[in-house]
Amino acid sequence: MATLIKNAHILTMDDQLTEYECGFLLIEDSQIKMIGEMSKLAVDSESMEVVDAKGGLLLPGFINLHTHLGMIPFRSLGDDTPDRLRRFLFPLEQVMTPELVAASSEYAMAELMLSGTTTFSDMYYFEDVVAKSCEKMKMRGFVGQTIIDMTTCDYRTAAEAIEGCREFINGWQNHELVTPMIAPHATNTNRVEDFKSIVALSLETGAPIMMHVSEMDYELTEIKEAYGFSPVEFLNELGFLDCHLIMAHGILLSDSEIELLSNARGLVSVAHCIGANTKSAKGVAPIKSLLEKGVCVGLGTDGPSSGNTLDMFTQMRMMANFQKTHLRDRSAFPAKEIVKLATYGGAKALGLDGKIGSLEVGKQADITLIETNSVNMFPIFDSYSAIVYSANASNVESTWINGVQVVSNHELVEQNLKTLREGLDSCMVEFREEVSKINKTEADI
Ligand SMILES: [Zn+2]
Repeated sequence: MATLIKNAHILTMDDQLTEYECGFLLIEDSQIKMIGEMSKLAVDSESMEVVDAKGGLLLPGFINLHTHLGMIPFRSLGDDTPDRLRRFLFPLEQVMTPELVAASSEYAMAELMLSGTTTFSDMYYFEDVVAKSCEKMKMRGFVGQTIIDMTTCDYRTAAEAIEGCREFINGWQNHELVTPMIAPHATNTNRVEDFKSIVALSLETGAPIMMHVSEMDYELTEIKEAYGFSPVEFLNELGFLDCHLIMAHGILLSDSEIELLSNARGLVSVAHCIGANTKSAKGVAPIKSLLEKGVCVGLGTDGPSSGNTLDMFTQMRMMANFQKTHLRDRSAFPAKEIVKLATYGGAKALGLDGKIGSLEVGKQADITLIETNSVNMFPIFDSYSAIVYSANASNVESTWINGVQVVSNHELVEQNLKTLREGLDSCMVEFREEVSKINKTEADI
């Protein structure tokens, strides 16, 4: 099956940032077969599906490098509450079930696809069901089983979670869309012996690790008091910098920690989650310094309770606004650079830059089409600026993942959003009861 997308302004996001003002792209099976200017188009499109982009912007699908898809039920809950993690998140996570995580993840994947995201990198509980949801939704996912030193909704102990994770990795190795990951919750929420088992498991299986790092003030204090190290020094001592490690946040990194990251022996990257970091008043991560030192950076929304939306447009614009303000430099992080981080940067962080992250012949067809007819999209003097500063999620017209069109004319192709929403709502009965109990307790206080 072949699909020809024609009359598109193509931003390839390749090394030279090649653009085709009025271009075409040919998808055959799951891959990009041809790409170029319309004037060079010489294929017989008789037997193909033809999509007229009508001058819209065609670019690689966005990569959401850090999220928690199972947390849609938490969206808009306790947003302005101090220490929301311990007061709302940890207690409510005890009532999560595989059914609720699956329904939440599928609803979240719909939001990702509808906003032009083609790959996500997740950490949560019951990740085996999230992996199955990827298959159902036809979404590309890096799926990380959480390991934390407490009894959770899916495992009694961290040791049990590590064993469960080993089985999970074995079950999903070499899948076309799913990559299993190990997700220790944070540097201060696991014991040293478990961290050592996690490093060994990653080195043995090649499974990437995702972890919250250098996010909380108290995380730095606790690690310093317990071990005498900063978080990255601690990870280095444990061997994490020899692994494929995706660090979510990295807000409070010192210069010497950035130096350590730049000398990492494995593939180490930072998922910049500016929306979550600034909403929680934690700070602005030193992304300029990280990039100058050659550390790989991608963008993430964090979970829907932190982010709150899962679209990358919001993150790209907030990154521009907050980083420019933080650096007091209007010219810092031009739009082109931010789009690159949201696409190719994420692919590189996942070790998939040879496969996705740019539109090039031979790569997998993970593509988004942004229409330019809506009221907010005129005029366009700079396509990258239009994407970062003018566009929003509702401008995404079509999305392809692995060559399959999953969004067409702003709607899901094979799934029904109303059905997904009703399915999620029906799984939320016990969750809503727990929310009422917490709110009642809060009122009593
Ligand atoms: Zn997170």
